[in-house]
Amino acid sequence: MRIVKTISEIREIIKEWRKEGNTIGLVPTMGYLHAGHGSLIETSVKNNNKTVVSVFVNPTQFGPNEDLEKYPRDIKRDSELVSSLGGDIIFNPEPDEMYNKNNKTIIKVEGLSEKLCGITRPVHFAGVCQVVSKLFNIVTPDNSYFGLKDFQQYVIIKKMVEDLNFPVKINPVEIVREESGLALSSRNVYLTDDERKSALSLNQSLKKASLLIKNGENNADVIINEIRKIITSVPYTIIDYIKIVDPETLEDIKTVNNKYAVLLAVYVGNTRLIDNFSELS
Ligand code: AMP
Repeated sequence: MRIVKTISEIREIIKEWRKEGNTIGLVPTMGYLHAGHGSLIETSVKNNNKTVVSVFVNPTQFGPNEDLEKYPRDIKRDSELVSSLGGDIIFNPEPDEMYNKNNKTIIKVEGLSEKLCGITRPVHFAGVCQVVSKLFNIVTPDNSYFGLKDFQQYVIIKKMVEDLNFPVKINPVEIVREESGLALSSRNVYLTDDERKSALSLNQSLKKASLLIKNGENNADVIINEIRKIITSVPYTIIDYIKIVDPETLEDIKTVNNKYAVLLAVYVGNTRLIDNFSELS
């Protein structure tokens, strides 16, 4: 396993891999890797001859008052994990390597980027699309892997790839959770012990919603109210949004049928957490 810092070096490696007839999987991450990332890496290693894991805290997807500076980083631990899972390369460029100072190109996936997390994070998805499209052009993967934990991100990237004819297959990977039910996230390190207890209400409320739907409840407002009740019953939580949407258009739905996504974003103390469950068929 090698850590590569420059675009020219990774392009050389990819060229050699292609000559040898290898298929390539890409797992884009911001590092501080946990078992959620691990699941994406394992899936890529299983389904491709070579796997590149990018570790890049992308400045363009952070708003001015967000946690870019304090976002956790540990490249040594990351490289141990990637190596143990059979990944071939960590691509870990500096921001100056990824972005020229005079960048003028942004990508907006209209109608999807402005909703949900896009309301509180107005520049976020333009930054995500920018960096992911650059990574696709640099690594030229056959497959790329995205966690359903970031459901809106997955939907947006899939649409971008379809609209811009990127020759890459986007593969969704299920959410990995702690035994407690808390979805793994690099940002969980910000939580105090008490906040962590409150954060369990996110998954608990989603489990309740899932049960209601299984038992035949199809009124989205009723389900959303149940979720809200559970989350507001614990301290430190401030709800950003709770939504039930069509999983492709991300438009609100009033009646839950066979295809839906139940999505939420909640501040627990100062930490903004997201979670969801969905039925995509
Ligand atoms: P991040 O480093 O947070 O930008 O995440 C990189 C990739 O890992 C994204 O595709 C995320 O959706 C995915 N990911 C993060 N946490 C989880 C999790 N708990 N389960 C599955 N995938 C995850």
